[in-house]
Amino acid sequence: MNATITTIYEELRGFLDDHQVSTNETILEQHSKDESYHTPSLPDIVVFPETTEQVSAIVKVADKYNTPIVPFGIGSSLEGHVIPYDKGISIDFSLMNKVLEVREKDFLVKVQPGVTRNQLNKELKKYGLFFTVDPGADATLGGMAATNASGTTSVKYGVMRDQVRNLEVVLPDGEIMHTGNLAQKSSSGYNLNSLFVGSEGTLGCITELTLRVYGIPEHIAAARAAFPTVDDAVEAVVSILQAGIPIARVELVDEHSITQVNRFSETDYKEKPTLFLEFHGNEQGLNHDIEFTREIVEDHGCEEVHFEEDNAARNKLWEARHNLAYAYMHLNPGKKHMVTDVCVPITELAGAIKFARKRIEELGLLGGILGHVGDGNYHTSLMIDMDDPEEMKSAAQFNEEIVEYALERGGTCTGEHGVGIGKMKYQQREHGKAFSVMEKIKLALDPHEIMNPNKLVHTKRRSL
Ligand SMILES: Cc1cc2nc3c(=O)[nH]c(=O)nc-3n(C[C@H](O)[C@H](O)[C@H](O)COP(=O)(O)OP(=O)(O)OC[C@H]3O[C@@H](n4cnc5c(N)ncnc54)[C@H](O)[C@@H]3O)c2cc1C
Repeated sequence: MNATITTIYEELRGFLDDHQVSTNETILEQHSKDESYHTPSLPDIVVFPETTEQVSAIVKVADKYNTPIVPFGIGSSLEGHVIPYDKGISIDFSLMNKVLEVREKDFLVKVQPGVTRNQLNKELKKYGLFFTVDPGADATLGGMAATNASGTTSVKYGVMRDQVRNLEVVLPDGEIMHTGNLAQKSSSGYNLNSLFVGSEGTLGCITELTLRVYGIPEHIAAARAAFPTVDDAVEAVVSILQAGIPIARVELVDEHSITQVNRFSETDYKEKPTLFLEFHGNEQGLNHDIEFTREIVEDHGCEEVHFEEDNAARNKLWEARHNLAYAYMHLNPGKKHMVTDVCVPITELAGAIKFARKRIEELGLLGGILGHVGDGNYHTSLMIDMDDPEEMKSAAQFNEEIVEYALERGGTCTGEHGVGIGKMKYQQREHGKAFSVMEKIKLALDPHEIMNPNKLVHTKRRSL
């Protein structure tokens, strides 16, 4: 520890207990990485605050010594978001993990940022409610707000930004503020909820969230539909959306990924491009939606369709889909998982996916394609040998090409995983003049550039 870090450590110990401040090698190492292929880097200190006031005091110490801060949820992000390349203090929110209030009749819940989505849903179930956003990992709600996460249900319920009613935020000078209120709608002032959602810890620390929740649907049905080609599957989705069927989930898994699912989850799904679908509603409406969907998928050449209304079968189907990333990792030991993430207008999706598949094969890469097709968002799951520079180069080239393809067609370099360090190089190209406005916002709120520096926007901060 250098002299400044020793002083910071001692000041932090002045108001935090022993178990709340650590320089232990294992703890530092746990906070040096996310779930991506980006190179790890250790923080100097990890802290575990229990209250907003403690977060505020930590930030004030960091500001006083001009030391970087990196907020940390569970570290499941995929673009190097939480890696402290400029060292400093990693603030781990795992001890701020309480569901503070369920306002059943307002369909609102107030939580601390370290609550995970599964923990929240377990609590909400007692009230007949659920929280809709479901990224593949059991992420924290603070991390999910900070990355504007989404998942399989956003086609019906929207993304994280649509669920946030109010945030309590500790600003880079340690002051505490609220971004919203409890009202269903508001025309009052700049929309700071939207500014802080997706800000990736670069503007402040989220210490409390008030979120929209929904009643658990009376009936839920799920289906699996296999198609001859990806084109047929995507066109079926466009027709389902055009028909106004209120589909709750619609996920595409290509045939390569279905093979991985079958091997990992011991299923025997047809190894063809497959849509996983889900419908929410009352019995009568649901029966109508199911029949209409069946007709549409059959019109698009669907080779096999299975509907599951039984809870266990439905859970198995979605578990298989959610475990896909882990299936790739488990079945390809020694390789690192690299997930890409672009989003295009839905009419461009079939072309984008075909282009990605073609390039995966031409570049000799190993991987499959899956996507939240109702949103025009797709991922490729690549398995990379990190010791093979040629393979690393091909993967990077592939990523560049699919981002370019998306940007040329009015899409975005990230549909849901966020920018971190991995997508910074595309920001100027994607946002143009708006990117310099983002840089001005960053500097106005964080003039000393201590909040997650050199992520999302370029800052002038030198590495310490
Ligand atoms: C297998 C797998 C599947 C995934 N599937 C999806 C998916 O379908 N959709 C999707 O959107 N993402 C997905 N992800 C990515 C990841 O789960 C999300 O980005 C998630 O929102 C990150 O939450 P976290 O708690 O892990 O945050 P972290 O990774 O710890 O942090 C993410 C970012 O948020 C900031 N942050 C964390 N907490 C706070 C806070 N309290 N205040 C301010 N900033 C904070 C961090 O500084 C960092 O910039 C997946 C990841 C994995 C490993």
